Amino acid sequence: MTVEQTLAELVGFDSVSSRSNASIISYLRQRCESFGLLVNEYPHVDVNGETKINLVAHTSLCGPTYKSEPQAEAGAAFELALVGHTDTVPFDPAWTDALRLTEADGKLFGRGACDTKAFIAAALTAIENCDLEKLKQPLALVFTCDEEIGCLGAKRLAEAEPFRARHAIVGEPTSLQPMRAGKGYCLAEITVHGREAHSAYPHLGSSAITRAAYLIGAIDGVSERIRDDRHDAFDPPYTTLNVGLINGGTAKNVVPGECRFTLEWRTIPGQRSDQVLNIVREVVREMSEGGQDFSCDIDAGRFDESFETDAASELVQFLERASAKPSGTVAFGTEAPSMIALGAEAVVFGPGDIRVAHRTGEFVPIAELNECVEILRRSIETFCM
Ligand SMILES: [Zn+2]
Repeated sequence: MTVEQTLAELVGFDSVSSRSNASIISYLRQRCESFGLLVNEYPHVDVNGETKINLVAHTSLCGPTYKSEPQAEAGAAFELALVGHTDTVPFDPAWTDALRLTEADGKLFGRGACDTKAFIAAALTAIENCDLEKLKQPLALVFTCDEEIGCLGAKRLAEAEPFRARHAIVGEPTSLQPMRAGKGYCLAEITVHGREAHSAYPHLGSSAITRAAYLIGAIDGVSERIRDDRHDAFDPPYTTLNVGLINGGTAKNVVPGECRFTLEWRTIPGQRSDQVLNIVREVVREMSEGGQDFSCDIDAGRFDESFETDAASELVQFLERASAKPSGTVAFGTEAPSMIALGAEAVVFGPGDIRVAHRTGEFVPIAELNECVEILRRSIETFCM
């Protein structure tokens, strides 16, 4: 099968994160079994009752006799893992061709065509083009669920640790530039409490919105303070903060009793992911001690680690040579930290541009898709033969 045909089949599955990914996994399982790979499924039922599955397919752990080997052993160590997420973001129902791969101007359009089914199609084709009998080191394909809603599938694998890996190429649209580091992603919801009163008698109450405004002003100061901590491989080269949502009050003539806002921060590698939160807690403590009748709750919902793989790593060096591009960094969340937790040197790499991902009409350039097949095939030969 050509890589375009495989991509067309993958795009044909509606694998939006809110749905079960069982059907696309069943397809991938069959493809992997047809290459003679051993497969293991790691299913669970998510909070909405949908079955979600991570699939790990691999060659023999003990030399080229892979076809006669029974099932995978727990604690297997793979030399190279090619990792792709099976889920996509939702699509506008008005995009009637979202699940039908269409070609125009050397580009292939469809939901997931870029993020990240193109990488999966390239990985399958690369394996199909390899003589697996010649592999001396074990190779794995890792297909995950729920990446688009917080890399949940990869995190489950990192926790259960059904395998270890020495090198991992994590598929994401990077226009075939190897990305060796990424910022972390953390999120907290902050609820500021006040006391309601009739707005004609504000001295009888205490405005939660005014207090939240003071706190947000102080948080702005925090974001200035932490800029001294720099990582020059990133743009901007420091941890960034954002208050993205705010909601408070009940009516124009009521002194508001509650105000909530979200605080998001993206940490540079080397900085602890709870550092910002600890500074914010300190600010809150100072404000409450300042006699301002101040109270607030901080609900820290998410701490996705940053990651960094050494520029001198064998995998970074290989991908720089193969793509003829210097390694870079990404500011969006990926499954790389989970692969690092599983022992791997991890690099994020794949065809397509992240700036067109998640959009109606996302696409992958056909030339990049084919080049990715070739680079992945060479990576298999380099690391596993
Ligand atoms: Zn993605």
